[in-house]
Amino acid sequence: MSERLLRAVDALSSGRPIVLGGQESILVAAAQLASPAWIAHVVRHTSGILRFAADAALLDRLELADGLGVDAATRAGSGVSATDRAWTLRVLADRASRPSDLVRPGHVFPVRATAATGVRLTRLAGLRPAAAVAELLDDDGAPAGTVEACRFADRHDLEFLTADDLRGAVLRLADARLPTRHGDFRAAAFATPEHPDRHQLALVHGDPAAAVEPLVRVHAACPAGERFGSLVCDCAVRLGEAMREIAAARAGVLVYLRGAEDELVTGLDRCARREPDESLAAAILDALGVGRTVRSGP
Ligand SMILES: [Zn+2]
Repeated sequence: MSERLLRAVDALSSGRPIVLGGQESILVAAAQLASPAWIAHVVRHTSGILRFAADAALLDRLELADGLGVDAATRAGSGVSATDRAWTLRVLADRASRPSDLVRPGHVFPVRATAATGVRLTRLAGLRPAAAVAELLDDDGAPAGTVEACRFADRHDLEFLTADDLRGAVLRLADARLPTRHGDFRAAAFATPEHPDRHQLALVHGDPAAAVEPLVRVHAACPAGERFGSLVCDCAVRLGEAMREIAAARAGVLVYLRGAEDELVTGLDRCARREPDESLAAAILDALGVGRTVRSGP
């Protein structure tokens, strides 16, 4: 599951479109990397209507209205060619663009889609939260369902995903060495398509994938206790104990699960520790090649 997500995110990062299968399947590409060749390909196999799906904040900043087409003011031609539309998408996704860089009406149609899968995937890829989206059609010109979309992806060597593939998938983002006063760890960061901005952590000691019985702990973050040493709870103590235990073992993993960051602002007068999300913890352990002998807390 997570491998397919990784391949799809890699494809988006290199400017290739991916196929999202469903009742009405779509082709999705990262707007900021839109190229004339891929836009021509996308237009040829879809309804030809190219949407710019983006975060609401991004649309508001450029004063874009849902469904009202735009062109880049600096386009070369009338705006309809693949070259012009690729350029318009790049201008739309450019952090430095201003409302005056776009003219209305035009040939790329903005839609507010903060939570749409394509937008989440661009965010997961570390790109601007903006996707070029077009509806895939079958040979008869009807919306392509999952089966046709999968065939299309195979034929054109594109990555194919459905919403089911994304459920429970995690993407490994980065690794860092983390020497601590409790012992030496490697920190691995993960994110999910549901919450691409909320990075989860695994603190890895030794080689838990190779160990017979790696010590696994799952700890839910508590900003008040852990960052500020609040006395309303003993989360910081428990975290330190778990890290020391793992560091003393031959190999182990501490899965550190974070909640919404607004808890940091609104919840400082109480313990923010929640029941850890066991399925998320299991997906992270899976990605690390560690079995599912999860034990919560010390
Ligand atoms: Zn706490």
